[in-house]
Amino acid sequence: MNDCLFCKISRGTIPASIVYENDRLMAFKDIAPKAPTHILIIPREHIATVNDLHPTQATLMGELVLTAQQLACDLNLSESGYRLVMNCNRDGGQAVYHIHLHLLGGRTMQWPPG
Ligand code: 5GP
Ligand code: ZN
Repeated sequence: MNDCLFCKISRGTIPASIVYENDRLMAFKDIAPKAPTHILIIPREHIATVNDLHPTQATLMGELVLTAQQLACDLNLSESGYRLVMNCNRDGGQAVYHIHLHLLGGRTMQWPPG
């Protein structure tokens, strides 16, 4: 997946403000933040959309959520709250076709989403 933006960020060929990384995933600041805290958590493995997930990737996806939980704790957001979002395809508002979990916090979110 040489032309995928988030694969390039994972490989380090495009810079990002990295907040956490390990062998399986990476968390970095969104370039156009929609909240005071806006972090993207991605698997290093290229998975285009939620539709493409396999049961064998359940642990990896769980690790994405647990990383968001830990980052929220580190950023003192656990009690006030935060939002985790994963957009899928056109109607979901997905712009980058490498799966990513948005961690949004630092303000009150609206519901329903736009
Ligand atoms: P989506 O709409 O696909 O769920 O979210 C894609 C997110 O990626 C957007 O919030 C957008 O601001 C962010 N984004 C797009 N290009 C870049 C980039 O080059 N670097 C970083 N850090 N974030 C990006
Ligand atoms: Zn990719």
